Formats: sequence, C-alpha cells, structure tokens
Amino acid sequence: MVSQQRQNVLVVGAGIIGLVSAFRLLQEGCAVTVLDPSPAKGATWAAAGMIAPTAEIAVGEEANYELQRQALPAWRALGEELRVLTGDELQIVEKGTLLVGWDASDQRLVDQFARVAGTFGAALRESSRDEDPEEFAGVSARITRGLLMAGDAWINPDEAVRLLLASLELLGAKIIPSEVTRIESSDHDVRAVTALGDYVGGCGILATGAAGLVPGAPASVRNAVRPVSGVTLRVRGFDRSDVATVRAFVRGRSLYVVSRPGGYCVLGATVDERGESALELGELARLTRDALDVLPALESAVVLEHRSGLRPASRDLEPFFEQLGDTRWAWASGHYRHGVTLAPLTGASAVAFVRGVA
Ligand SMILES: Cc1cc2nc3c(=O)[nH]c(=O)nc-3n(C[C@H](O)[C@H](O)[C@H](O)COP(=O)(O)OP(=O)(O)OC[C@H]3O[C@@H](n4cnc5c(N)ncnc54)[C@H](O)[C@@H]3O)c2cc1C
Repeated sequence: MVSQQRQNVLVVGAGIIGLVSAFRLLQEGCAVTVLDPSPAKGATWAAAGMIAPTAEIAVGEEANYELQRQALPAWRALGEELRVLTGDELQIVEKGTLLVGWDASDQRLVDQFARVAGTFGAALRESSRDEDPEEFAGVSARITRGLLMAGDAWINPDEAVRLLLASLELLGAKIIPSEVTRIESSDHDVRAVTALGDYVGGCGILATGAAGLVPGAPASVRNAVRPVSGVTLRVRGFDRSDVATVRAFVRGRSLYVVSRPGGYCVLGATVDERGESALELGELARLTRDALDVLPALESAVVLEHRSGLRPASRDLEPFFEQLGDTRWAWASGHYRHGVTLAPLTGASAVAFVRGVA
C-alpha cells in the first residue's frame, strides 16, 4: 500500500498504458482520476495485440527484447486479477509465430532474421510444410518453409480495455471524458485543467501516448516522442487461430495476420513516419495484396474496418518512465510498437513512482 493516507493520483490518458497504470494504483489503495476525451481510441485502438518478443527482435534492441520477455508472465498475472474482479477471462493465446518469406530475397530476410535472433538466444526452429503441415494451413503453396517461434502470444486489446474499464469502475476510479489542456505542479500537489473543470491530486502520470507532453509540463531533457502512424485492417472469414500467428516478409515489406477464433483477422501494419493517420489507397492495396499472396485463403474474407493509430516512438525506440524535473508529475511513453506488450511492466513503474512521492 502507498501510505496510510490515501494518495490521490491523476492519470492523463486512457490508452493501455494509462488504464493498466490506473488499475495497479487502485489496487495499491490510491484514489485515481483518469482524464481522456476518448478513452482507448488512440494507438491502443489500432493495435493487433501481439505479445511477441521473439518475432519483434530487431538489431540493437536487446534491452527491449529482455523487457518484452517479462511481458507474458505479467499479462497472465494481470489477466487473472481482472478475471477475479470482473468474472470475465482475458484470452491469452500462446501459439507462437510462423515467419515466412514470399520470394527468394524475402527468404533471405528470414534467414537473416534467424541469425540475429540466434544471437539473442531466442527459442526458434526451422519448420517446413512437410514437417508441420498444420502450421502452414492457408499459407500459399509456394511457401514451403519458415521459422517457428514458440513463446509468442497475443491478446485482443479491445477485450483488455473492456475488462480494465470495468475493473476501474468496480474499484471506484473517476473517468473524466475531457482533454487536459494544461497541467500544474506545486510542492504538495498537481493540477490538471480541463473544459469540465480542474482536477487536483497528490501526484500525476502523463500517459498521453504519441501526443507527448501537455502544456505546463516541464520540458524533458532526456526524452521526446514522435508519432509513427500505423493502420490495421480487420476482416472476417478465415480462421487459423489454433496455430501460430503468421508473419511474413513480402517484397521486402513486413506483414502479419493475427487470426482470432471465429474468423476475425487483424492484418497489419502500415508504418508512416509522417504521422499521418489517414489510410492511403496505395498502402491499403499493398497490405491487401501482400496478405492475399501469403494467405490466399483470405480471398473471400469480408472487410470489416480499418483502424489507425499513432505509435509513440522515443529517440532510441525504448519505452521510458520519467519523473518530470522535481515535480510530482511523471511521463510514461515511448512504447512504440510494444505498448500493449509492455503495459503491465509500466503499471509496476507507476506504482513505484507513486510510492516514491507519497
Ligand atoms: C497499427 C498498430 C499496431 C500495433 N500493434 C501492436 C501489437 O501487436 N502489440 C503491441 O504490444 N503494441 C502494438 N502497437 C503499439 C501500441 O498500440 C502502442 O505502443 C500503445 O497503444 C501505446 O499506448 P499508450 O497508452 O501510450 O497510447 P495511446 O493508446 O495512444 O493512448 C494515449 C491516450 O492519451 C489520450 N490523450 C492524449 N493527450 C491527452 C490530453 N491532453 N488529455 C487527455 N488525454 C489525452 C488520448 O486520447 C489516448 O486515448 C501497435 C500500434 C499500432 C499503431
């Protein structure tokens, strides 16, 4: 518990980072006020929900890999706590990842990936259509081999958000549907200014994703975020949820198809450093063509919607949790491609911060 006197915490931003932080702080006995004009409609809304430390391996991101490896146990624990509270189970599907290449040069990218992942000590093995026919269900017949990565998983972020919001309500959080236009800080409290009024707490957390610092916040000398937009396309009509999530290199581009029970698939994702959240026709055409080439069984899938979001990218692509100057505000952002994965770990940082200022 934080202290004998109930700590009152403001959480600005109700994406996955703000929601998990708020949940953890409520469990600590804090009184929590969450402020967001459109809860969980930022990057969290667009996310596919993969918790895939191995498939996400990238050169130079060893520290991030080690962090992500802690995420699945943390999500299992969080899922169980949400179940006890709400009675609803958060499905965590742990079927691994199958990485394939479309043509010979894409296959070379797969081989290159295997070499890099090998230096990380990641658990992966070569797989072939002959050895593991079920893993290649729906995959183009011209793709005969790939890499299987056990230990990768996914959740449905919509479900996680639903259970978190229900839990916040059960634990007595206040959710204020308003934008924070300015923040202030004194020696003993913090203030968030909104069109609905001012809110005061003992300390506060900015979990504003790619939107960055709110006016009034002291500038950070260490961190900055930039928006990297991404779109996922949602379709229905193809189900391979009982085997590994397919990832592919296709004509040099990255593709994934997360298949959920019942035939709902998330196809992704575009990456646009201009931070434009609109979906360009060319991007949609490339994503669709890549997906149909790798998984021709998607041919008759029905398009449901597309979702766009802004990934919060830090300078070094690592997440950060920073106390802002000597104020009672902290800034949690920079989760880039891994915010869903890392949310339970950031929740623990939020608790440590509030204990520290209590
Ligand atoms: C296409 C796509 C696919 C992705 N897939 C995955 C994946 O498979 N696995 C994974 O781990 N990650 C994935 N990510 C990354 C992940 O979605 C993000 O890292 C994560 O959602 C960041 O969470 P957040 O809470 O920081 O930001 P957000 O979800 O963007 O939430 C920030 C919130 O802050 C609010 N806000 C901003 N400014 C203010 C203000 N002034 N006052 C009040 N509220 C404010 C916004 O309204 C918003 O609700 C994906 C991202 C994208 C775009």
